[in-house]
Amino acid sequence: MSKLTLQNSFINTIPEAIISKKSIRVDVLRLDVLHPVVSGNKWFKLKKYLAEAKKLTKKVVVTFGGAFSNHIIATAAAANYYGVKSIGIIRGEEGRTPSPTLQQAAHFGMKLFYISREDYALKKLPAPFFEHYCRDDSYLINAGGYGVPGAVGATSILSECQSGNYTHICAAVGTGTTLAGLINGVQPHQKVIGINVLKNNFSIEAEIAALLSACNRNYCIHYDYHFGGYAKYTGELIQFMNTWYQQTGIPSDFVYTGKLFYAMHHLIYNDYFPAGSNVLIIHSGGLQGNASLPGGTLIF
Ligand SMILES: *Cc1c(COP(=O)(O)O)cnc(C)c1O
Repeated sequence: MSKLTLQNSFINTIPEAIISKKSIRVDVLRLDVLHPVVSGNKWFKLKKYLAEAKKLTKKVVVTFGGAFSNHIIATAAAANYYGVKSIGIIRGEEGRTPSPTLQQAAHFGMKLFYISREDYALKKLPAPFFEHYCRDDSYLINAGGYGVPGAVGATSILSECQSGNYTHICAAVGTGTTLAGLINGVQPHQKVIGINVLKNNFSIEAEIAALLSACNRNYCIHYDYHFGGYAKYTGELIQFMNTWYQQTGIPSDFVYTGKLFYAMHHLIYNDYFPAGSNVLIIHSGGLQGNASLPGGTLIF
């Protein structure tokens, strides 16, 4: 069973030529470098859940995800780190060869159960679960880590750098938990920008609002950069990700951060940020999910 060691995050400043000399500064907080597979925001979101499961002396944490889920692998690693057993309920049939994500999750000691898409939609615990545990033994973590403890954990992303210096803090939005954590943590002079990666995700603003602690509502979500929907992509997105990597040395994933960087590049190009802005983009990781793409799609 692997044991987790984490590297330190760092900041990359994007060269002026790439952002079209717009008299703004653009930095990227590299949370993707924390760990080769357990990267990014998921680690921050999970901390409070694991601490709570431990405090309540739960026997096992249970969560849900797909075969390439960043959340599944991060939960496996975080549970391992905190010395708590973990179970992953996986959407769909068990494949002949498990995905690299699920293999890594198993290395961290996670037990995997496969359930049908219908049962998954109902978040049904499978019968074999009850052969070992009763419901009260388990600590359930929502798919994607959505919830107040997740947002509290995500606020600590801001302590990874001198975040008070920035005018804008930008991140990809899935469940919105990370964005809510950032909104809760920023100062009044700062604005949080979210790039939504799902299509027709109309309930997201209410879901984020449910996680906000104070009256700081200084945020804005952009909906036009989903490229067809969650985990969908186009040739244009892949091309952008490859060029962005060539120009900046920053790899991205096609589900979240590729869309985030594309959106940022587009917004900057269209003078969205006033001159003098000091922009921080959160690289929330997720690179392990690129393993689901056909070989050779990406140059990194
Ligand atoms: C899960 C994830 C997100 C989205 O985070 P939410 O808190 O669900 O909005 C963003 N980036 C990456 C790489 C992720 O894995």
